[in-house]
Amino acid sequence: MTDLARAKVRLEAALEELKIRQQRIADDLDEPLNADSSEQAVEVQDDVPLEQQAALLAREIGSVNRALARIEAGTYGQCVLCGDDIAPARLEVRPEASLCIDCARKEH
Ligand SMILES: [Zn+2]
Repeated sequence: MTDLARAKVRLEAALEELKIRQQRIADDLDEPLNADSSEQAVEVQDDVPLEQQAALLAREIGSVNRALARIEAGTYGQCVLCGDDIAPARLEVRPEASLCIDCARKEH
């Protein structure tokens, strides 16, 4: 299997996993609040991190989808900012990486 094919398999697996987690969070958020008002306060508070998790997941799903689109477009492994090759070791850790290490450092 080529590195590109392997990256695609990993990204597709990651996407599935992220979607399952997103669905689980959506289900949790949909859960009707407990009728007991003292319980309700606790549940509302618990919803805050869940919503943050949902936002984070949505962002990750976006990154993975864009990486898959770059595979289709033949630009996978190139930095979206400077066009340099992204180090294979970096793609190994983060197959959805869109920036080379230099640009990623500048972003933060
Ligand atoms: Zn770059």
